[in-house]
Amino acid sequence: MKKTNFHTHTYRCGHANGSEEEMVCSAIKMGIEELGISEHVPLPHYRQHLLKSLVAIRGPRSFLSLVHAFIQNGPSMRMPYPDMENYLDKIKECQDKYQDQIRIYKGFEAEGLEEYFDYYQSLLYEHKVDYLILGHHFHKHCVHSDYYGKENMKKKDIYQYCNDVEKALETGLFSYLAHPDLFLIGYKEFDLDARTVSQRICEKAKELNIPLEVNAGGIRRGLRNVNGEMIYAYPNTHFWKIAGEVGNDVILGFDAHDPSDFNEAMYKQMLDFCKEHNLNVIDHFDFLQGHFEKFQGEYDIR
Ligand SMILES: [Zn+2]
Ligand SMILES: [Zn+2]
Repeated sequence: MKKTNFHTHTYRCGHANGSEEEMVCSAIKMGIEELGISEHVPLPHYRQHLLKSLVAIRGPRSFLSLVHAFIQNGPSMRMPYPDMENYLDKIKECQDKYQDQIRIYKGFEAEGLEEYFDYYQSLLYEHKVDYLILGHHFHKHCVHSDYYGKENMKKKDIYQYCNDVEKALETGLFSYLAHPDLFLIGYKEFDLDARTVSQRICEKAKELNIPLEVNAGGIRRGLRNVNGEMIYAYPNTHFWKIAGEVGNDVILGFDAHDPSDFNEAMYKQMLDFCKEHNLNVIDHFDFLQGHFEKFQGEYDIR
């Protein structure tokens, strides 16, 4: 199996370190043969989006994160929209400069927000990026109250996550589902509902032939005690047992937020986790391009 990784961030999102080139060099050093750079997708009209999110605000934390993002027009979660061309140019430079050492792809990690599906389609249609991965962190609004990794996730939140993810996968815009088990970070008891949601997500991905990602981000945070069990927040052992039974294709994702995140020890930990859970690990996947026929012409970017 080739060493590959399609989940890479840069300093541009405001919570990571490393330029495109620094990430590439670090990946080369650890022997990665194919690398996808997948910064959190910049959103046009982001300030408008944030203003519309005011209705979702619950509590000061959510409010402060919104104000912060509004002032910066992006960072803390995603790069500002005007930086996109520069990001893509830098990746292109790396593709040329390191073509003998590594194969590089352009991508984004994108939210499954319906109002942006046309925009995502235009990114693929115009070949700005090679692929998108679905990293669904938020329901409707990019603010903390709507964050699916928050503490105290309720039953209705996890079913909402499930519905959002199913709908997004069906668009054919997303080539794989990143950290599918994000919803379990703050929903600690793996009860019948958690099981149902996990099963539904795995089956939907299987039906559409879309791989699921075992994500290193949660492994980096280490094991934690959940109801007497020492497990990762994600990849969540209970979720992945189900994925093993359903027979999903599984891709490893470093979710690198720093050049040092590319390292052999982490690669081995991810592989071990997959082995323990009987997962069918793959090193590549099809780059899905969305259903063009549903795309209503040029996306209006003011
Ligand atoms: Zn990130
Ligand atoms: Zn993510």
